[in-house]
Amino acid sequence: MEIRVEGLTKHYVSEGRTVKALDGIDLTIPANRIFTLLGPSGCGKTTLLRCIVGLETPDDGEIRIGDQVVWSRRQGIAVPTEQRGLGMVFQTYAIWPHMSVFDNVAYPLQVRGAPRAQIAAKVAEVLRFVQLEGLEKRPATRLSGGQQQRVALARALVAEPKLILFDEPLSNLDAKLREETRKELRRFLGQLGITAIYVTHDRVEALALSDSIAVMRAGRIVEIGSPQKIYFHADHRFVADFIGRANLVDATVRGTEGGLTEIDCALGWLACAPVDLPVGSAATLCLRPEFLQLQPEGQASGGNQIRGRIEALEFVGEVNEAEIRAGDTLLLARTPADSPLRVGDAVTLSVRPEHCLLVSA
Ligand code: ATP
Repeated sequence: MEIRVEGLTKHYVSEGRTVKALDGIDLTIPANRIFTLLGPSGCGKTTLLRCIVGLETPDDGEIRIGDQVVWSRRQGIAVPTEQRGLGMVFQTYAIWPHMSVFDNVAYPLQVRGAPRAQIAAKVAEVLRFVQLEGLEKRPATRLSGGQQQRVALARALVAEPKLILFDEPLSNLDAKLREETRKELRRFLGQLGITAIYVTHDRVEALALSDSIAVMRAGRIVEIGSPQKIYFHADHRFVADFIGRANLVDATVRGTEGGLTEIDCALGWLACAPVDLPVGSAATLCLRPEFLQLQPEGQASGGNQIRGRIEALEFVGEVNEAEIRAGDTLLLARTPADSPLRVGDAVTLSVRPEHCLLVSA
């Protein structure tokens, strides 16, 4: 089921101050894909989700779910939440503590007055799907956080929604469980082939789960693309910075040589992945730490080379994170955990031109 949002605006007035939570959102969410709204706290993700669900009334614009207009100011349409055919999974599991797993999952069907035999069959099917069979009689609170979130997912799925919406569903889980549950969710949603809208401010979650990501800022959508497009070929500096660890350096385009774009920046004259920017224009060089090869000074070969000195090293488990001082610029790089390089060592960073990405200034 495709979702279309056009010209959506929403403002709040709080303590005499007006906040534009949504500032003219135009968005098409393709059918049967996992679509993520990603952005910093307060950028309007939850407000957009709540408008699609019908828990919030926009100021203006239009929302369609499939062929049906569910909200339109111009046409005076406001379809109530329960008639929009949606399932929702929230940050707080929102499962009922006094009920068993079975009763929690059965609830949406009971409210609809479905026959008992049909409810039993459908609940058994979704519990099997989320791998909770055998736990039907257990009070829902006597489950792990990950299992409780699966109960919430089962309850959202039991009524066979056209669309399922997730608002930061993993943020109450600890890091390890969060990763496991994320993988499970990806698998469940892949098998279902349902349209899913997922809200998060966690970039790793967005990258790992999504078919498409919309990055939001201050009530607007800055950029939409696949995880790879957003990570490797962002068009905007804000997006490149938000989606992953990045060294961002102001640059000026100097020309084209051998199919590469040449720039001048505080790190010197560098060859970069080609971009269509006129000579003399300002750009931002984006260097991801994982593409910077760190070697003792003089031992590097090939690609662009940047000389510097290790200013700090932090052991973070699988790698060391290194801060390299190159002139006035401080660059983040990584070295293997067993690297002999130490703080104070003179080093050369090499980076291939195709890994020097240019984004708008
Ligand atoms: P978070 O990741 O922190 O949940 P978000 O991106 O989901 O943030 P929203 O919750 O949509 O952001 O909020 C967008 C803006 O609207 C914020 O500035 C927020 O303070 C404001 N806002 C949201 N709900 C209300 C409300 N009921 N009353 C007043 N202001 C609100």
